[in-house]
Parts: sequence; C-alpha cells; structure tokens
Amino acid sequence: MSQSNGAREALGEFDYIIIGAGSAGCTIANRLSEDPSISVCLLEAGGEDKDPLIHAPMGFAFFPSWSPVNWKFDTAPQKHLNNRICYQPRGKVLGGSSSINAMIYIRGTKADYDGWAAHGATGWAWDDVLPYFKKAEDNQRGEDNYHGAGGPLGVSDLRFNNPLSEVFMQATTELQLPANNDFNGETQEGMGYYQVTQRDGRRCSAAVAYLNPAKERPNLTVVSGAKAERITFKEKRATGVEFMQGKAPKSVKTNGEVILSAGAFQSPQLLMLSGIGPANHLREHGIEVVVDAPEVGANLQDHLDWTALYKTSSEDSIGMSFGMMKKILPAISAYRKRGEGMLTSNIAECGGFLKTDPSEAEPDVQLHFLPALVDDHGRVKHTGGGYSCHVCVLRPKSRGAVTLSSNDPEANPVIDLNFLGDEDDLRRLMKGARIVERILAAPAFDEVKGERLYLEDGASDAALEADIRARADTIYHPVGTCRMGSDDKAVLDTQLRVNGVEGLRVIDASVMPFLISGNTNAPTIMIAEKAADMIKR
Ligand SMILES: Cc1cc2nc3c(=O)[nH]c(=O)nc-3n(C[C@H](O)[C@H](O)[C@H](O)COP(=O)(O)OP(=O)(O)OC[C@H]3O[C@@H](n4cnc5c(N)ncnc54)[C@H](O)[C@@H]3O)c2cc1C
Repeated sequence: MSQSNGAREALGEFDYIIIGAGSAGCTIANRLSEDPSISVCLLEAGGEDKDPLIHAPMGFAFFPSWSPVNWKFDTAPQKHLNNRICYQPRGKVLGGSSSINAMIYIRGTKADYDGWAAHGATGWAWDDVLPYFKKAEDNQRGEDNYHGAGGPLGVSDLRFNNPLSEVFMQATTELQLPANNDFNGETQEGMGYYQVTQRDGRRCSAAVAYLNPAKERPNLTVVSGAKAERITFKEKRATGVEFMQGKAPKSVKTNGEVILSAGAFQSPQLLMLSGIGPANHLREHGIEVVVDAPEVGANLQDHLDWTALYKTSSEDSIGMSFGMMKKILPAISAYRKRGEGMLTSNIAECGGFLKTDPSEAEPDVQLHFLPALVDDHGRVKHTGGGYSCHVCVLRPKSRGAVTLSSNDPEANPVIDLNFLGDEDDLRRLMKGARIVERILAAPAFDEVKGERLYLEDGASDAALEADIRARADTIYHPVGTCRMGSDDKAVLDTQLRVNGVEGLRVIDASVMPFLISGNTNAPTIMIAEKAADMIKR
C-alpha cells in the first residue's frame, strides 16, 4: 500500500531518514553518519540555531513571544484544572527542545530504568543504560563510576550562583534537608545546585554537541525548514517521507529506515497521519489504516508543576527591576569576553529531590528554585524583583493522550495531558507544596522576603488545592506516546521498531514507557545513543 500527495520534488535516496533534529534526532544523525558508508538525511521543521538567545544560557528566558524557535502548543482544556488550556513549549529549531530548555542535567534513578525493564522494556534496565549516559557525557568533573568524560555532551557546574539561590540553599540547611552534590551519582535524594548541559559557559544543545561536529560530513544531509507530512509505505515497509519545505512539496526516499524523532507530541501525530494508530480514530479523519495500533498517542505523561511566588526588594533578582538594569551591561561584557557571569545562569540553578513521606522508597517530588518571578511560564509579567520555587510530582499516575484534530499535517494535534486525572498526583503535589512553603518560610529568607502572590502563607488545604487547580502547569517533560514494550499493545518493540511495519523506528522521548524521575533531556539523548548502537549492530 502506498500513499502519495501528487507531484513532489524528490530529494534522493538515503540509507536513513531522520525526522526531527531535536535531542534525539541530532544524536542519531551524528552516530549513524560516523560510518562514511551510511547516508543520512535529517529533516527539521524549524530553522538554524542562530539566535544568540539560544546560546547564552540565560537567553532562553528572554525569547520574545513571536520567536519562531518554539511550537508554543496549547493543550486541550484540562478537566481537573478548571478546564484551563495549558501551555506546552517545544523547540522548533536545530537542537529541538534542547535549544530552548533550562539545561538541567538529570538522568532519573536506577529504579526508573529497572522499572522499565520489569514492565517489558527488556534491555533498558539501569545497567544497560548507564554506559550510554556515560558515552554521551563530557562531565567537567571527570570520569567516575557514574560519569563519563570526553563524550559530545558538555556537562558542567554552573559558573554563576545567584545570591538568592544561596539564600535558598541556606534555608534547606536550616531545615536540615539532606544535601546532594551529585543528583546523578550514588543517590538522587537531597538539595543542591544542578549540573547543566553547558560547555565553557555556553549552552550545549544536542545540535551543538552532536550536529555541529558532523555537519560537514559528506554522507549527512541536514534539511532545515522541512516539515514532514507523512511517511510513505509499500506493502507495510516504510519507503520515504513526504515533506513541505516552505511552500514546496518535496519527498525523500530510503532504502533502509525512516527514524521518527519529532518528539512526544509530533511523533505520534506523524504516525497517525501515516496510517499507524487507533483504526477508528484514523478512519474518523479519513486516513487509510496501515496498522491498527491503539496505543499510538496514548500513555501521555508529564510533570505537573506548581509554583510559590514571592516579590522581593533584593537587587539580585532577575527581572524587570532597576537592580537588574544596572547589572546587564557588565554581565554582557563578562559573558562575551570570558563565558562567565550572570548570563551563564540557567536561572533554575538549584533545587533537588525529596520524599513527601519517609516511607517512600525514592524521592517523589522535585524542586526548582528560581531567583526570578516566573509566573505562568513567564507569560504573566511583573515589574520589580521576586523569586519562585517550583515543585512537581516525579512519577505521576495520570495518563493523557495525543490525538489528531484533523488529517491536515499543518494542524496541531490535540494534546490532553489529563493532569490530576489521578487523585494521588494531587495529594503528592500538595505535600510537595507544603515542603516548598516550609523552605521559603525559613529564617534565611527573612531579609529578602516580600509580598507573596496568589496564596497567603498558612493558607488552608482547600485554598492550596484551589490554587493548584487554578495555576499548576507543565514543567516540560511530556513522554510515553509511542511506548516501547514486549507486549502486543506496545507501539514499539524494545529495539524501538514500530510494530506491524518494517523499516520504521521511533527514537525520542515518546518511547519511554514511564516518565523518569527528573528532567528528560539527558534520558532522551541516552535513548538515542543506545538506539544508534542497536541500528549499527
Ligand atoms: C522550556 C523547556 C525547558 C526544559 N528544561 C529542561 C531541562 O532543564 N533539563 C532537561 O533535561 N529537560 C528539559 N526539558 C525537556 C527536554 O528538553 C526534552 O525532553 C527533550 O529535548 C525531548 O527531546 P526529543 O528529541 O524527544 O524532542 P525535541 O527535542 O523536542 O525534538 C523534536 C524535533 O522534531 C522537530 N519536528 C517536529 N515535528 C516535525 C515534523 N513534522 N517535521 C520535521 N521536524 C519536526 C521539532 O521541530 C524538534 O526540533 C525542557 C523542555 C522545554 C520545552
């Protein structure tokens, strides 16, 4: 069976076509094209990563609302969040979301990956994945049992700690919370500064780490501004990709495989547009069914996050304040000359992983402290300074779905996170919020604390729950919509091949069967490193 869309300019034939140059796509493109006998074509809907706001670490907080580097998805109304439409930023540029993320380097826990393996993701237990985390990594602290050095992905200690972050860390000491100097080492639990995906004080996106060193290889063709519309098949074998480059319809063929790395929202969308998904849903949209795969788009998981926000008169806060204005010119100079100073901050400099109850086997909430008033992803602006502390539930039980709004590839998919669909997530988030409140009430904050926004200190549980339903939103880690597994319902087998067809894999955050306990960039890169090895073998 083949699907076609009329006359298209043909780009040629490659051994591998990768759709999406994000965290996963850049990694695979590099690893596959290491072999000069393999030809690789990488299609990316966004443009080149030339905007300096991508590369100066603090820049990501200052992208203007019209910046083209973000897909800026809206979700479906969230039933358990007062029917609010939530926000889902995603990178639309070389490097994908790794070009716009907060650079925090976290892997999750041994138990996360052992859990994957125990639930059918054979070959993805901790001992199987650790070598790939290390292979990817170039940790400034050097090599040890847990870390790698010399890999493509720069991982560094922050070069700048905001004094308000120091206040936060002091508060956690006053509360005698455990300290942790390496969340990716022996234990995850505790509070500390995050390591970041930076090298020499600059963002190390997947494009910087993996694509730039490979771009000149004659066997790698990178096509930006190329939005894939569907994968074509002949007798259930993937034969190529149809895409739009600007207004020009084009196509590219493969004699090997198509690799879908368009991220947790667009990989399932593209599978469905190509005829792989729940048969009834595809027929509703007039799409010919290639494989009835009921779980495509299902199993969507994300970290729901709530923030406590305080104003402060401290001149150290990042924001629209006089204190900040005075610092900006020297900061630009320090960054340009030495890759140092305030602009190397990822803003979410410190935080950590805590148990909401001592009986928990692993931390179940993560905190991110920001020396800035970041309200509604920075979309609600405040004058003056402030600080914020985020908390999210690490292993949510709620499950959502990505479905099609239309068979038009230009239309965004319907993204329904079903946040707080499971009551347990609310219970844990409330406990996490109470921990945040205790930290922010510690004596260390006495000198800097100003007015609290939205909720009063000492608010009742009912008021806190109402505030969560009114304001909580993603902390940007959607996964799971093309789940791998060993059962018949899994979208992918454990080599990440799409079940029911040949010559097609999905390799990105959507393959995770369960959300890991932490930020998802490094795990996605690990997945791509491991998958590239599987393909090469
Ligand atoms: C604002 C923000 C902050 C974050 N902060 C952190 C953090 O601090 N630490 C951390 O570990 N994680 C963080 N994350 C999450 C992390 O960046 C992602 O989990 C990870 O980048 C996902 O990688 P991916 O390869 O699955 O998708 P992406 O990196 O999103 O890549 C998908 C790529 O596919 C392209 N694409 C999509 N559709 C098409 C199409 N039809 N045709 C061609 N190309 C297409 C996209 O443009 C994109 O470039 C953050 C994410 C965001 C958005």
